[in-house]
Amino acid sequence: MSDKRKRVSVDQSSCIGCGTCIKVCPAGVFKIINGKSHAVRPDACIVCRACITHCPTSCITISPREYEPIKRLYEG
Ligand code: SF4
Ligand code: SF4
Repeated sequence: MSDKRKRVSVDQSSCIGCGTCIKVCPAGVFKIINGKSHAVRPDACIVCRACITHCPTSCITISPREYEPIKRLYEG
């Protein structure tokens, strides 16, 4: 079951807490907690990839296997 869940993760060591991911995410996935972004609603992710595109430190990853075809579609 857990393998099929959408997984959005933030590398806490790289996140600078700029809040950009919160601004660009249409699904309200992120929240700043103690100065770092956390994916508090990963299941809401629609895989638009806006956060990955805009994060200045490239610390966001979306990693479920079932998203691979979608990733290929976006990355062309
Ligand atoms: S955009 Fe990146 S660096 Fe900025 S708060 Fe979000 S995860 Fe952290
Ligand atoms: S891919 Fe889109 S919906 Fe998913 S967390 Fe990033 S900005 Fe939000």
